[in-house]
Amino acid sequence: MTYAQDVVRCEFCPKLASGLHPATRLVGDPDDEEGWERGLAAMCNGCWKILMDAGSMGRMRKGTKERWWLGHDVGPR
Ligand SMILES: [Zn+2]
Repeated sequence: MTYAQDVVRCEFCPKLASGLHPATRLVGDPDDEEGWERGLAAMCNGCWKILMDAGSMGRMRKGTKERWWLGHDVGPR
């Protein structure tokens, strides 16, 4: 029996992810610190570049209303 355990899908498009990258997502109120979560997101190289250039709007994760940014330096301080 074999498992495709190394296959991770990009969280933003149907491609395979190139790896996990530090990211921040907005899951609630942007003015509320609790609305922000930091963690690792699986993404492909193409989406990594898109998120890098996403600016203040971030990028919507597929199938959700979450917005994501690359890195840990967004959100309220
Ligand atoms: Zn992608």
